[in-house]
Order: sequence, then structure tokens, then C-alpha cells
Amino acid sequence: MDNDRGLSGFASLPGVQVGKTGGALAWPWAIASFMFSYFALIAFALTRKGLPTVSEYARKYPACVTERGMSCYRCGSRSIRLWREQPFIAAHQWHICNSCGTSLYRSR
Ligand SMILES: [Zn+2]
Repeated sequence: MDNDRGLSGFASLPGVQVGKTGGALAWPWAIASFMFSYFALIAFALTRKGLPTVSEYARKYPACVTERGMSCYRCGSRSIRLWREQPFIAAHQWHICNSCGTSLYRSR
């Protein structure tokens, strides 16, 4: 591990404490976290776009249509959260189950 000290000479400056492994892993970590968030964002957009509309959802899960509104096809909860987002001009509304967090359908 003597090569380490030679490569990062500035680490030996007084008052500058650079972690032995932290400095070498900082860039890979930054890139990895960036890529991960990027792919997560794409996956998020793709899964949200693939959601059925209310009528499609009702046709797909007829048992979920109750008199007091829709219910979750997964856990049967009627507590559905409305997630509204407006990335551009058009606004989107996602309906997400409050209990299990499943994305159920979109309303526009
Ligand atoms: Zn649910």
C-alpha cells in the first residue's frame, strides 16, 4: 500500500485529510449514483406511462369498482392517493394505492 501514498501526494499535506479509499471511490460512486438515478427516472416514466386509464382499469378489474369509488386490485384498499404532476404543459394524475403503494391507473 505504499503506492497509494505516492499517487495522492496532496493527501500528505498538513490539514488535508483525504480518505485512503474514499478519494479513489468518489468518482465511480458519483457516476454510479448518477446512472442509477437516471435509469430509475426512465423506469419511473415508463411504468407511469403504461398505466391504464380509469375505464381500462375498471374493465380489467371489475371487482374493484365499488359504489364508493375504485379499490386497489392488489390489497382491496379504497384509500387511493392522487398524485398530480405537471412536467410540461399537460398535467398527469396518477392514482396510487395508499396502503401498498401500487400505481393503479391514470386519469389523464
Ligand atoms: Zn393496495
